[in-house]
Amino acid sequence: MSRTTVATIHLGALRHNLALIQRTAAPSRVMAVVKADAYGHGLERVARALDGQAEAFAVAALGDGLRLRAAGHRQRIAVLSGPDQPGDIAEMQRLDLDAVIHHEAQLAWLAEASPRRGRLRVWIKVDSGMHRLGFAPERVAAVHAQLAAMPGIDPQIGLLTHFAESEVFGGTVTRAQIERFNAATAGLDGPRSLANSAGLLGWPEARADWVRTGGLLYGLSVVDGKSGGDFGYRPAMTLSTRLIAINRIRAGERLGYNGTWTCPEDMPVGVAAIGYGDGYPRSAVAGTPVLVGDRRVPLVGRVSMDLITLDLREAPAARVGDRVTLWGPELPVEAVAAQAGTISYDLTCGMTRRVLFVEDEG
Ligand SMILES: *Cc1c(COP(=O)(O)O)cnc(C)c1O
Repeated sequence: MSRTTVATIHLGALRHNLALIQRTAAPSRVMAVVKADAYGHGLERVARALDGQAEAFAVAALGDGLRLRAAGHRQRIAVLSGPDQPGDIAEMQRLDLDAVIHHEAQLAWLAEASPRRGRLRVWIKVDSGMHRLGFAPERVAAVHAQLAAMPGIDPQIGLLTHFAESEVFGGTVTRAQIERFNAATAGLDGPRSLANSAGLLGWPEARADWVRTGGLLYGLSVVDGKSGGDFGYRPAMTLSTRLIAINRIRAGERLGYNGTWTCPEDMPVGVAAIGYGDGYPRSAVAGTPVLVGDRRVPLVGRVSMDLITLDLREAPAARVGDRVTLWGPELPVEAVAAQAGTISYDLTCGMTRRVLFVEDEG
């Protein structure tokens, strides 16, 4: 089957973005966060593109660490939610992965496993206020002491926390999280890591020893009203398809499922070969921007599984076969996400297996 919907991954943009992150963060070091199949861009593809440049990777789960090692990457790899079961500890040691420990159960597994061959590198995840994963601040010193006493644990025990809303620059929530983290870790030895992408941009005092950037690596931003491009980052994904029909629809006729949009006049309506079956968000509302050639036109009617409909009144030169761009360097994915009630990360992570992935050096 030949597929019309294509996600083009821009390897040059990935390299540009990592270099900019590294320059911005310096002297802090950078973990390139490649969880969730590198935010939908393809884990092996992204890691290969960044291999000569990335000092460390971070993944959500052990399986992704295994994939990176199998692909030959030798950098440090942090597994952000650590071992999920006791047997994972030996596997993490075999693969030389950094384990992020966030729960008493993991501590017990470590004590039990007493890693022998070499020393397992461990980070303590501190819950500084997000209340998802992590040890309560008052437990941190004791956990640190317990780990330091285990012979199989590398004595350089890391200290890590995660922000709940670092994209609100100057906000009180992140300020309080930084203070809680600093208080909980005061006097303890070991590298520290607090900032995600928005933390890097908006909270220089939280750069510490390592920043963990995902979104910015792909040119994505979660800062309200801003795209990655506003901070000098380049989108690493273009999602495109073709126009497969142009129909003239009469004034007063309703378009698509449930007729949610009514033509205000006799008008040309374009049909593009993409829908929620490819990962384009069904929640995108009328008015969501789409590019036909280099013309910006509004989406109209419901997004269906395979198709979307477009108001072509402002694109009189459009022809069947024209390229249709859903997001990319010329149309920030953040602008689409805002119209779909979600964030850019959700859209790039949502590409389905029907989409053909290709690469370019751009
Ligand atoms: C996903 C994640 C990151 C990266 O966040 P971005 O906003 O994409 O930079 C960093 N740290 C942890 C613990 C994460 O889960």
